[in-house]
Amino acid sequence: MHRIIVCVKAVPEPKAAGELKIDPVTKSLPRLDIPLEINPLDRNALEVALLIKEQSAAHITVISMGPPSAGDVVKECLALGADTGILLSDPAFAGADAFATAYTLAKAIERLEPIDVVLCGTASSDGATEWVGPELSTFLNLPVVTMVREIVDPESQTWKVKADIENGYRLVQVELPALFTVTRDVNTPRTLSFSGIIKSRKKEITTWGLEDLSVSEELVGLKGSPTIVSDLAPLEGGRECEIITGTPEEKADILITKLAEAGVI
Ligand SMILES: Cc1cc2nc3c(=O)[nH]c(=O)nc-3n(C[C@H](O)[C@H](O)[C@H](O)COP(=O)(O)OP(=O)(O)OC[C@H]3O[C@@H](n4cnc5c(N)ncnc54)[C@H](O)[C@@H]3O)c2cc1C
Repeated sequence: MHRIIVCVKAVPEPKAAGELKIDPVTKSLPRLDIPLEINPLDRNALEVALLIKEQSAAHITVISMGPPSAGDVVKECLALGADTGILLSDPAFAGADAFATAYTLAKAIERLEPIDVVLCGTASSDGATEWVGPELSTFLNLPVVTMVREIVDPESQTWKVKADIENGYRLVQVELPALFTVTRDVNTPRTLSFSGIIKSRKKEITTWGLEDLSVSEELVGLKGSPTIVSDLAPLEGGRECEIITGTPEEKADILITKLAEAGVI
């Protein structure tokens, strides 16, 4: 049986993007009162685990670090078929950068060892640093394969996976335990079913805070973040548009001149 951990980030729902306010002091994007959803690529990561569970025995634990409202995202993962849901929520965890996020997730996963597989999305839809997966593998001292688009052979303790590279893929063989970050091409995530929602009602979410992880407050959240976002400003100004007229040859000449002047070609 595979013991699988899926890291799921609760990200702002796209329709709530307008409600996001930059914290003037920490320059972070507090997610406290914002409607949250499962990070799209983490749906693919969870689907990888659910398909393995359908093919062979597996136990799936979903872990999410976020505000208390991220509990709804963990609940949805339980309704989709995960077995255990853990929410890492504590004011001390707030404002974490990718490094502190990976460290906190690692401390939680160490409490669940032994494990066979850790699955992450390649990126979140808000911070999108793509760093948490690889940093988490370092903290857990696990081999990592990023950008996985296909799990070729998930049966044994040695996985073969196809991972994206420019203009192609690499076929990687890795001994478990290991960490994988997945792309959207790996599968088509299932949607919630009524029976799944009913079944999940019996599944409790476990919430862990700073004390449960027995880590120093200095190593998590904003205090534990080596990178400080010194400023965060929305992009100003739209695009300029210029209509080029003339014969096709004249238009082509004018366009080439303008592109050359702009240093594009
Ligand atoms: C606009 C913006 C810019 C930022 N720039 C930086 C920066 O330059 N440097 C920096 O260190 N931080 C930065 N951050 C903060 C960073 O986004 C957060 O630390 C975040 O929690 C983790 O990084 P990420 O979202 O980029 O994760 P990614 O590395 O993009 O996420 C990859 C995967 O890691 C897992 N994961 C990520 N966060 C969680 C979580 N909270 N719970 C469970 N699983 C998780 C998920 O599986 C996810 O698919 C930025 C945030 C914002 C909003």
